[in-house]
Amino acid sequence: MSPYLHFGEIGPRQVWHAVQAAAAGRGSKAAERGAEKFLSELGWREFSYNLLYNFPHLPVRPMQEKFAAFPWKHDAETERAWQRGRTGYPIVDAGMRQLWNTGWMHNRVRMIVASMLTKDLLIPWQHGAAWFWDTLVDADLANNTQGWQWTAGCGADAAPYFRIFNPVTQGERYDPAGEYIREWVPELARLPGRWIHKPWQAPRDTLRDAGVCLDDTYPSPIIDHSEARDRALAAYERIK
Ligand SMILES: Cc1cc2nc3c(=O)[nH]c(=O)nc-3n(C[C@H](O)[C@H](O)[C@H](O)COP(=O)(O)OP(=O)(O)OC[C@H]3O[C@@H](n4cnc5c(N)ncnc54)[C@H](O)[C@@H]3O)c2cc1C
Repeated sequence: MSPYLHFGEIGPRQVWHAVQAAAAGRGSKAAERGAEKFLSELGWREFSYNLLYNFPHLPVRPMQEKFAAFPWKHDAETERAWQRGRTGYPIVDAGMRQLWNTGWMHNRVRMIVASMLTKDLLIPWQHGAAWFWDTLVDADLANNTQGWQWTAGCGADAAPYFRIFNPVTQGERYDPAGEYIREWVPELARLPGRWIHKPWQAPRDTLRDAGVCLDDTYPSPIIDHSEARDRALAAYERIK
């Protein structure tokens, strides 16, 4: 729905009323709950637009001013690895490759890849927002800015800073059979589901049988997630 909303092919009020009418027509609690959830997403859109209207500097400056002093890292090579889906974290790489190839990524994956960039790799959220701006079919200044600031922890009503997405557990929870990985990271397609979200932990024989050679056919993790988490929390302590 987002590209159509962004380009004004359909309006939020139209969607709002159509969804309410459809849910009322069904007359079930489940339909009501589904409609409520969907409408709350539209609410996020309206919130984002309201923020941008009232704080037009948000695409470049954090809502929470203390983040202007955050010790971000500038590392073009690491940023490139993230953009091109070569981080060694399969769920991140699948998302970034899907984005590059189709211009699309599910909201859950957007949050995971944004958390990887801003919290694990400490690369400024503005860089991620710029990449999304160039590649998303639904690129939208208000929603994109809000999505990045929320994930980076510097936005209005942002995720608490310690909420750092674990790319392995997120992958296992939302893609338990590894189908998404198999589609977008085909070099891992023959790995059993148990290892597909963490190939660096797979036994050597399993990797060999699946045709995976770490650092040759697929990279090792660009950073150790638990060390990166500690580093991010320490960085946050400096501006708290
Ligand atoms: C880092 C990051 C960047 C994002 N960049 C964009 C962007 O450039 N453009 C964009 O439209 N959305 C963006 N989003 C929000 C969200 O990911 C997309 O709106 C959603 O994935 C679109 O899919 P859908 O239409 O199936 O959403 P549905 O879940 O069906 O939601 C319906 C509509 O509500 C709005 N919406 C849903 N979730 C959000 C949200 N979290 N914030 C604001 N509005 C929302 C969208 O207009 C969407 O079309 C971003 C989220 C993150 C975490």
